[in-house]
This record gives sequence, structure tokens and C-alpha cells, in this order.
Amino acid sequence: MERISEYRVVIIGSGPAGCTAALYLSRANLKAVVLEGLQPGGQLTITTEVENYPGFPEGILGPQLMDLMRKQAERFGADFKMEQVVKVEAGKRPFVVVTEDREYECDALIVASGATAMQIGLESEKQLQGFGVSYCATCDGFFFKGKEIVVVGGGDSAMEEATFLTKFASKVTIVHRRKEMRASKIMVRRAQENPKIEFIFDTVVEDVIGSKNGGVTALKLRNVITNEARELATQGLFVAIGHTPNTQSFKGLLDMDDKGYLVTKTGSTYTNIEGIFACGDVADHVYRQAVTAAGTGCMAALDCERWLSGHE
Ligand code: NAP
Repeated sequence: MERISEYRVVIIGSGPAGCTAALYLSRANLKAVVLEGLQPGGQLTITTEVENYPGFPEGILGPQLMDLMRKQAERFGADFKMEQVVKVEAGKRPFVVVTEDREYECDALIVASGATAMQIGLESEKQLQGFGVSYCATCDGFFFKGKEIVVVGGGDSAMEEATFLTKFASKVTIVHRRKEMRASKIMVRRAQENPKIEFIFDTVVEDVIGSKNGGVTALKLRNVITNEARELATQGLFVAIGHTPNTQSFKGLLDMDDKGYLVTKTGSTYTNIEGIFACGDVADHVYRQAVTAAGTGCMAALDCERWLSGHE
């Protein structure tokens, strides 16, 4: 397998965290390569309008924002490769990052591989992502002003998102696959007490009806106890059934919490292995915003640069 040794730093992941780390490292004259993974640009590429990224008063399309971030990093010399990491050898330096095609040697590594919003798994859900189907209320809630929407899930995220969405929507229906909620009692009570929120229990979404032009118009639901199917008119679907951090390739190597998120030293992006830094959603299950990911991407680049200069 071809072995590349021209890069001082390998960045795994090409969302706002990875791109910002690449920008800062390149401007510091550190040759860096971004291994983009299976979803170049990350989660923002499955959203449409982004209105809460500072600097874009009119808003910007998610894919366009990622394109600009990438171009900004490339302008200063960062390379981007559409390769997926298979494993990382970090027993000694240089570290070796193995993809399906090549091996990359590096002095330091920045992990910005993100998290993936869990999907129900319907073809129609996939087709309408960004056209009425969303995985982030903070990002997309504003577009549903005065509309009736559905939130799927029975955990804290679903309760929190549903409650948040009532700021915009005229009605929010929470559809949960069983009767018992996974969410904490206080979050459930808050949702129950909200006059705009209704619950449908023991029910799954079997199909999302709509089009890219007209958005979502209805959902096909099925009661899992009675097997009864019905259509529910709605103008939006928020899927809030959890996130999975993309940390499979780091199991046994980097410290993780019980959900698989990477653990960093408080107030920094240092992981348990010297020379490996983590930023963005892969190490953050709390904020999960493009701007916070970009912020920690900057922190990782600065931590990395300082660490490298101390190990020259
Ligand atoms: P979660 O606790 O894992 O809950 C996921 C929910 O989605 C569960 O109710 C689950 O149903 C349902 N679900 C999973 N797969 C599904 C599928 N394929 N189809 C339909 N429903 C499905 O995830 P989360 O709500 O994102 O929370 C993650 C963690 O963050 C938790 O520890 C939570 O406490 C924390 N959190 C805290 C706050 C807060 O305190 N403010 C806010 C958000 C999240 P079942 O119940 O049947 O498994």
C-alpha cells in the first residue's frame, strides 16, 4: 500500500471542525491533509438553509457553507482527500493513519470525525432530508413558523426539540414507538404541560409523504399494538432518536464516554494520547452546533501547533 509522509498533521473529518483546524494549521505553515470520510462536509451537507452561522446575515445553504470553508483552508495549502479511515496506529511516532487506499504518516492527528444523527431508515426520509425532514431543531425550527410538525422519539432530545419547536410551530406531535418514555420525568412533564404538544404512543413512522418542491405533506403511521395504519397530515418531520459518534476506528485507542464520545481534557482538545486531539461533535454531545464545532476545530489546531513546537 502506498505510504504518504509529506503531512505533519492528519485531520480526520471535513465538517466545520475539520475545516477550521485545517485552515488554522495551514496558516501556521503546517502541512495538513483532511481525510474527508464518507460524508464530505459533514452533517451540514444534509441541511438546506443555515441561518445561525455568524457572518451570513441572509443565511447560507449548508453545502455552500462547507464548500466555502473547504476553499478557505485550501487557499492556505491544506489538502483534502475523499478517503475513509480504517484504522490508526498510534503506538509510536510517526502515527500511521490507514485508509482503504493509502497509509499516511503524521506527527500529530486531529480527530474531527463528527457524529451521525440516527435515521429511521426510510427511503422517503432520505429523499426529503432538508426538504421538510430535519435532525436538528435549533438549526431548522425557524423554517416551520406557524406550521404543524411531528417529532419522532421518546428521549430527552425529542422532548427538548419538541418544546423548542413550539416557539415556531402551531402544533407539535410527538410520535413514540412505545408508551413508556425514555426521557427524564421533568422533560416529559414540560412537554405534557405545553398546550401546543400532543403525543401519539405505540406508533412508528412507516413513510414520509411529500416532494422536494412541496416539502413534507403527511406521514404514514402504524400503531404497533393494533397494527392499524393511518395518515397524519404534517408539514415537517424532526427525527430525534439519538446520535452516534463516529468513533468506531478509535475503539481501544482513545478514551470514550459510555456513549462512545471522545473524552478530552477539560478546557482543551487533548485526548489521552499525546499528539492526538479531538474536536467538533465527536467530542461534544451537548452543543452540537456548526459554530461550536468550528470553535473547537480552532482550539485543536492551536493545541496541536503548540504541542508540535514543543516536540520539534
Ligand atoms: P436516547 O435517550 O437514546 O433516546 C432515543 C429515543 O428514540 C428513545 O425513546 C428510542 O425509543 C427512540 N428511538 C430509537 N431508535 C428509534 C427508531 N429507529 N425509531 C423510532 N424511535 C427510535 O437519545 P437522546 O434523546 O438523543 O438522548 C441522548 C442522551 O443525551 C441522553 O443521555 C439524554 O439524557 C441526553 N440529553 C439530555 C438533554 C438535557 O438534559 N437537556 C437533552 C437532550 C439529550 P425507545 O425508548 O423505545 O428505545
